[in-house]
Amino acid sequence: MNTYHYDFVVVGGGMSGICAAIAAARRGVKTALIHDRPVLGGNASSEIRMHICGADHHMSVPNARETGILEEILLENKRRNPEMVYPIFDSVLWEKVHYQENLTLYLNTHMTEVLCDGDRIEAVCALQMTTQKTFRILGTLFLDATGDGILGAKAGAEYRIGRESSSQYGESLAPEKEDPYTMGNSLMFKARDMGHEVPFIKPFWANTYTEEQLRLRDHSDVTSGYWWIELGGGERDVISHGEELRDDLLKAVFGVWDHIKNGGEHGAECMELEWVGFLPGKRESRRLIGDYVLTEKDCLESIRFDDAVAYGGWPMDIHTVEGFLNESDDPTVWNQVNGIYSIPYRCLYSKNIRNLFLGGRAISCSHVAFSSTRVMGTCAVVGQAVGTAASMAVKRNLGPREILDCVGELQQELLKDDCYIPFITNQDPDDFARQAVVTATHHIPGCEPEKAVNGVARTVKEESNCWRAAIEDRPSLLLSLPEKTPIREIRLVLDSNLSREITPSINQGVLSRQKSGPPSELLKDYEVDILLEGEVVEHMAAQSHGQRQQQHFIDGTVGDAIRISPITTYGGREAGIFEVRIYSCK
Ligand SMILES: Cc1cc2nc3c(=O)[nH]c(=O)nc-3n(C[C@H](O)[C@H](O)[C@H](O)COP(=O)(O)OP(=O)(O)OC[C@H]3O[C@@H](n4cnc5c(N)ncnc54)[C@H](O)[C@@H]3O)c2cc1C
Repeated sequence: MNTYHYDFVVVGGGMSGICAAIAAARRGVKTALIHDRPVLGGNASSEIRMHICGADHHMSVPNARETGILEEILLENKRRNPEMVYPIFDSVLWEKVHYQENLTLYLNTHMTEVLCDGDRIEAVCALQMTTQKTFRILGTLFLDATGDGILGAKAGAEYRIGRESSSQYGESLAPEKEDPYTMGNSLMFKARDMGHEVPFIKPFWANTYTEEQLRLRDHSDVTSGYWWIELGGGERDVISHGEELRDDLLKAVFGVWDHIKNGGEHGAECMELEWVGFLPGKRESRRLIGDYVLTEKDCLESIRFDDAVAYGGWPMDIHTVEGFLNESDDPTVWNQVNGIYSIPYRCLYSKNIRNLFLGGRAISCSHVAFSSTRVMGTCAVVGQAVGTAASMAVKRNLGPREILDCVGELQQELLKDDCYIPFITNQDPDDFARQAVVTATHHIPGCEPEKAVNGVARTVKEESNCWRAAIEDRPSLLLSLPEKTPIREIRLVLDSNLSREITPSINQGVLSRQKSGPPSELLKDYEVDILLEGEVVEHMAAQSHGQRQQQHFIDGTVGDAIRISPITTYGGREAGIFEVRIYSCK
């Protein structure tokens, strides 16, 4: 057995585990990411192909898209993958993780055992299927990002499966009595238009469906689908019956496709199946218990938690028990939340295992709240919060719970890395831009220059929080510092239009709302000048490379002003800058 030691061990390489591992590694933490599939991304990978949804609920809540590492990944994908080819998205994820300093990726590696000393995890054991190697991976801190909460369960962490009674947390959307039911698993498919009629020969094992049986299941889009082909979670739990559920899902997918092709008029004569998933996406199994359990009320009332570190906003999307087997009910009920809501840090570490963080869909929520937090945009920002907390814990030799005492610092670190936390503003004492007098040659009404340092890096309701000017005016933004300062770093947050979707998807409707390539609003070329007594002492011609957050490192050049001059965008007529931060030499 090969034995290794890491400061932070992440098990599960879905969007939550990826963002956590990258966040920690970028902060110098020796990190391992153990993932049992050949490709990263979990339900967002080419193996399952679910689009990454989040608080914007498919663009229905403006300016709500998740930022930070997820935004960086998705913008890189937009730049490199204009036609949205899934294996290219896989490669973007692999590149981000594989080439990340301080991060060791174990692909095709299944965590099999957990070794504990009392209420601490000492190590996990894992088998790498491709090399037949076994590993003992010791760690200081661990993150369960397996979706199924298997790391926590094996370590003896408290967890819950199923639905709480409505009285347990006072939830109107919960059933009267508690039960073990969860949402089910699904297989997706993608079809293509061949431009000529294509027959479909139904396999002998596929099911048969009538229009009457599918009357509550929208199958008008014949290009991809269908999340409602969902089985398990009722009489058959999604873990122990996983293999037979997969077989039954295949029978259902091919049966639905047969209905579309051969069961009446669906406009699919020229369509042929181009891809069918064989690895079911899992929606729900264990939820690990933290110091706080997020509930329906928290989502509906958008409670302001002092320890908020992430946010959600997807509706409470509670699927019907038994999914596709229940023909008489709608497959889900969309219970809208009130805009976006905060997720407290106390939901992100185990109540009883003292070095275990929680991520992804296994965070500490009731079934009702989980039906909202489970979407991958939310999982990703939760992951970045955990990875950042882990880096603070490693440096201070603390456990996850003790980080609660310095959660204000955690919030500031997350904001600095372009995460958004409702109601939390930039209070970074090291940011010299906060002391600057900000002026501009031009601005459009409502987007005055000082908005670039007002502490919020996205539009919130009516407040733009952005300096914006017409690009044809060749505008520039000037930050005058109170004194001569040796400059070490300038950070910018540009406008990537957080109201338009950029997620990978197999769904034509979702893709048709998107623009190919980087967002047109985004600055492409710009200049950064450091000025001293009116003279340029350092000039940088910069390109955004399609990214929202920009970092410019400087060798301590002394200046008393910074000028930023937009040159071109990716097509838009205006240039927008949400935030400028200036850091000096320590
Ligand atoms: C059909 C379906 C449709 C959905 N639709 C959407 C949607 O449109 N948009 C959206 O955002 N969300 C959607 N969801 C929900 C969302 O996909 C999940 O809640 C989300 O993927 C959870 O993220 P995660 O990172 O916790 O887990 P996952 O994405 O499941 O990633 C966890 C990974 O950990 C790995 N793993 C598990 N155990 C081990 C182990 N022992 N060792 C090593 N690795 C392990 C798994 O292989 C898995 O890839 C959908 C879910 C399903 C099933």
